[in-house]
Amino acid sequence: MTATDLSAPDTRGALRYERTAWGRRYTSADGSVREIWLLSVNSVKSRTLAEIAEAAAVAATGLPAVAGFGEPYRPTSVDAVSPQRVRVVAVGCGDGSHRLLADWDTEETARQYVRHTKPVLARTVEAERVNPGSACIDCEGLTSCSQPPRIPFLLGTGRPLRPHRRRSVSVSDLRTHAACPARFHLTRVLHLKSPEPENAAIRRGRAVDAWLNEQHRARRGCRATVLPALLPRLSAEESGPALRMLSEHAALCPLDGLPSSERVQVQKRLTAYDPELDVVVIADPDLLYTDAGGWVWRETKTASSRPWEGRPLLEAFPQLALAVLLLSADLLGGDPHRSRIELELLYEDGSACEELYPDDQRTVEEARRVIAALAGPWVSDEAFAATPGHGCHGCETLRWCRPGLEHTTGR
Ligand SMILES: [Zn+2]
Repeated sequence: MTATDLSAPDTRGALRYERTAWGRRYTSADGSVREIWLLSVNSVKSRTLAEIAEAAAVAATGLPAVAGFGEPYRPTSVDAVSPQRVRVVAVGCGDGSHRLLADWDTEETARQYVRHTKPVLARTVEAERVNPGSACIDCEGLTSCSQPPRIPFLLGTGRPLRPHRRRSVSVSDLRTHAACPARFHLTRVLHLKSPEPENAAIRRGRAVDAWLNEQHRARRGCRATVLPALLPRLSAEESGPALRMLSEHAALCPLDGLPSSERVQVQKRLTAYDPELDVVVIADPDLLYTDAGGWVWRETKTASSRPWEGRPLLEAFPQLALAVLLLSADLLGGDPHRSRIELELLYEDGSACEELYPDDQRTVEEARRVIAALAGPWVSDEAFAATPGHGCHGCETLRWCRPGLEHTTGR
């Protein structure tokens, strides 16, 4: 930590500016060399020059420090010797990879800081735009911030018996938790990632999404678009089914014929805050567009087979249930009576488009029930026990899961 204290508040009302870098700290026995190791969970992460120069500058001039929530940092010790040299090393804790990012004397460190970091920091302190997202969970300003919009009891469940620090959650998190709490904990809380490649269906879905997003971001309707022979990151064999799904989309593309006065937002992150639960809820709709005064939330799913007919739509696709609750709570503005949710299903040999209305009371009640059923167990879970079963085969966290390994090997 390195801090600048002012004798009087500046134009922003600030009395103190702190800069921090977090990592393992090392120093040579004579104090002339300092090293900071920037840790990432899986492999070495790529970092911008602004980040690298800031880590080097803080390591060169800063002090070890601790802080509580809402408190200024306090130095824990004073190093008597100023270093002459600083190294920044990236370390991937999952695969043991490491990379030397900077090895500079202190003059070079200062030059790199002025060149790469200072302009970024200046822009950051000047910026007034709020950008709500999962980082809100650590923000000390959340309670007095205009964002994210407050929606009490959004998840349909009250506080757990034992208090929990603020968390963020998406429907995808809740589905993972419902499938196996241990898998949720390993992938979504500890962020462990298997080096194994993703399965073919997931990669095909991503390739289709990426193509559609690019088209829609450019505000191109898909009816007249000529498809390529291959899609990026898919083999010729894998591209065939993905391209057939894209040609099925052409007939359902909502941008064809959409007046230019309507708004279109592709993969816009939506955030809401449930103050009762102290949880930030995240959603990433595939496509949002306005239509005659209301908002339309379009989810597009690729599938190799039809969903089971007997299963209610909101249960099969709980993202739609959250969409219903967010639109019925007026998260996007617009006229809720003109708003709707569309589910576009793409198969190799056909397609379907279902519609849901957030002003329909029965739909809202059903959505509440679906979300509460997923959120309730997550809210009160403290053990994140594995639930071994069919899902273990192909689970990306199997290698770290003893119950899963015992289940799959029969031992
Ligand atoms: Zn389209």
